Amino acid sequence: MNFADSEVVAAILGEAGYGLCTEPSEADFVLINTCAIRDNAEQRVRHRVRELRALQARRPQLRVGILGCMAERLQSRLMAEEDNLSFVCGPDAYRRLPALLHQVREGMKSAEVELSTTETYADIEPVRMDSNGITAYISIMRGCQNYCSYCVVPYTRGRERSRDPQTIVNEARTLFGKGYREVTLLGQNVNSYQWSVASGQCPVGFPELMERVAEIDPRLRVRFATSHPKDLSDRLLEVMARHGNICRCIHLPVQSGSNRMLQLMNRKYTVEWYLDRVEAIRRYLPDCSITTDVIAGFSGETLEDHQATLDLFRRVRYDYAFMFKYSEREGTYASRHLPDDIADEEKTRRLNEIIALQGQIALENNRKEVGREYEVLVEGESHRSKERLFGRNSQNKVLVFDRVPSTGGAAAEPGTYRRVRVADCTAATLLGELSD
Ligand code: SF4
Repeated sequence: MNFADSEVVAAILGEAGYGLCTEPSEADFVLINTCAIRDNAEQRVRHRVRELRALQARRPQLRVGILGCMAERLQSRLMAEEDNLSFVCGPDAYRRLPALLHQVREGMKSAEVELSTTETYADIEPVRMDSNGITAYISIMRGCQNYCSYCVVPYTRGRERSRDPQTIVNEARTLFGKGYREVTLLGQNVNSYQWSVASGQCPVGFPELMERVAEIDPRLRVRFATSHPKDLSDRLLEVMARHGNICRCIHLPVQSGSNRMLQLMNRKYTVEWYLDRVEAIRRYLPDCSITTDVIAGFSGETLEDHQATLDLFRRVRYDYAFMFKYSEREGTYASRHLPDDIADEEKTRRLNEIIALQGQIALENNRKEVGREYEVLVEGESHRSKERLFGRNSQNKVLVFDRVPSTGGAAAEPGTYRRVRVADCTAATLLGELSD
């Protein structure tokens, strides 16, 4: 989401006459887009801000500002705590950045942190930064009002609002015309996307939106993130099954395998509901990969609750998981009512157990891929060798393979689809060879 937001910011500032540079030492302004979801992320941002002090001493005109959720959460307090900051700007206030930078140039300090119930930046064509020209993000909605008890997002990104579907389809079509071959539709909970149009017309939900984007061209792959398990509908799975270019990968954050924990987390589903959704995915899309997020050591988590999470991982057999220790965030329901009572070493121990189990499952899943053949969207050179390329299959697994087929034939080029047979694997990567 932040990457997509930074592209919107670059477009707004580009319109106002600012240009991007690649080195902080060339910049007049450094804008740091931030995440507030875990304390660790915030500490890294503070470290980065402090590092810039030396550069500011050599380059007095350089101003540093904070964008995004940390700006929203801490507001002017952040400028008081980090005295080399000149401004903070929250995620709904980016249109005011040109005026804000003008004030900062005049020597003022400024905070723009008003949240909006309507802002979606729908009319702004993002400037694609660090782009490979092949894959791009499209933000389809903003905010969240699920109020999971541990989560700061509803407070930093405001209420949920959806973007006009026509502007989304237009953005995807423009990207396809420029040679992009994959778009990822982004929202905190894409399943609750809802666009109400004039009376007499049907409202557009996420399945209809997906269908419209998928119909732009079968060569355009469509992905999405993130799905809330409580809202993952059969209707969406039906639409996915009908369109081969909607990728076979669903990120379905579970957070815990214990009903007691899920209730304390205010996740609004049970383990039984979650497993029913997993079963529905497997029924409609037998080749779909499933990935997740999980929190180790949430308030009051017992060893039985932790075991239930491990059991769930064994049952679902995720292809990938984002795994974190619980990090209490100020202002959330949990910070006010649920004590952060699991010792840090114990959180780490539980997290390491989940990581070890997931690593083993991912490796076993990948071993089953050996011998299979996939259509891969080639994205670029592998980090290790110019002679090898990497790309992803529909399941979002990374495949690495030689640029030129061993049997001769045409070399693969980034931005094209090629058939690749899996010959070997690690827990994270499939190693293959061109087979077309
Ligand atoms: S669904 Fe829950 S975890 Fe996700 S952004 Fe909303 S409140 Fe946070």
